[in-house]
Amino acid sequence: MEPVLEIRNLNVEYGLGDKAVRAVRDVNLTLHRGEVLGLAGESGSGKSTLAYGLTRLLAPPGVITGGEVIYHPEKSEPYDVLGLSDKALRAFRWAETAIVFQGAMNSLNPVHKISTQLTDVLQAHDPKMSEHSRNARAREMLKLVGISPDRMDAYPHQLSGGMRQRVMIGMALILQPQVVIMDEPTTALDVVMQRQILGQLIELRERLGFSVIFITHDLSLLVEFSNRIAIMYGGRIVEEAPAATIYRDALHPYSKGLLGSFPALRGPRRELAGIPGSPPDLAGMPTGCSFHPRCPKAFEPCSTHIPVLGRPDSPDGAARSVACWLHPTEQPVG
Ligand code: SF4
Repeated sequence: MEPVLEIRNLNVEYGLGDKAVRAVRDVNLTLHRGEVLGLAGESGSGKSTLAYGLTRLLAPPGVITGGEVIYHPEKSEPYDVLGLSDKALRAFRWAETAIVFQGAMNSLNPVHKISTQLTDVLQAHDPKMSEHSRNARAREMLKLVGISPDRMDAYPHQLSGGMRQRVMIGMALILQPQVVIMDEPTTALDVVMQRQILGQLIELRERLGFSVIFITHDLSLLVEFSNRIAIMYGGRIVEEAPAATIYRDALHPYSKGLLGSFPALRGPRRELAGIPGSPPDLAGMPTGCSFHPRCPKAFEPCSTHIPVLGRPDSPDGAARSVACWLHPTEQPVG
């Protein structure tokens, strides 16, 4: 499959000098055109920092200390997002890549109508677009996300939480970006509404052809809605594979722990088991494999040597990668 975004050896730190904390460590990840790539991990695993880093939206003291983010436009040559000027970066955001943030539904401006907020995005990126065309596009977008265009003149407080979140998704899609990053987009909604909105987003992706990076701590949502899943722990990717492979046959003990934390999608009921302990403190990471203090399978090299993400020596090894001493890898990913 053709890549649309390639993250190469990305490193992000908070703070400077001796006090710097490494929140994203040597991450290599490729998003392919038209796919949904799920990014899972507990709070503090680095998944949101990775998303903000690759779009250069990190708030200080976050700083990118190394790596490349190669974007492949549909009709022109690839370029490194980290090397863009401020002006080019503004055009890249929204027009090429859009983010739906955590709790986005609360970021609609309460004193402006939905119509104004949607058409403002169009005006900011294409001042020559006529008012008639802007309104037509906004109405079309609302319809696409399942809201009657009659609600164009509603204020945010006149809409339910689910509708406000749909408006935010519409706003993210209004400039037809190639990549949409969704950071816990439906966490504040009830389970039924979450699934409705995500199902609709997947339908839209099939119609409009954009690619999605979908970030959540809820692995069950990723198994249902993603093509591939990458699992993060302590700022690193520790496993990556097609969603069905992760669900059926996760290799990394942390991935297995996450899977054991939600009810089975099919088959008999099973007892839920959490992962003992807490996520590591990024300011004082354990030596070796950062999961070793919590890992039920830890053995001799785990506390001293960091396992490298690589292709496991298995029949489906070409389509997956893992960083764990239990699964010797043939070649590093990167
Ligand atoms: Fe567990 Fe060792 Fe694998 Fe880390 S490398 S996940 S500690 S078995």
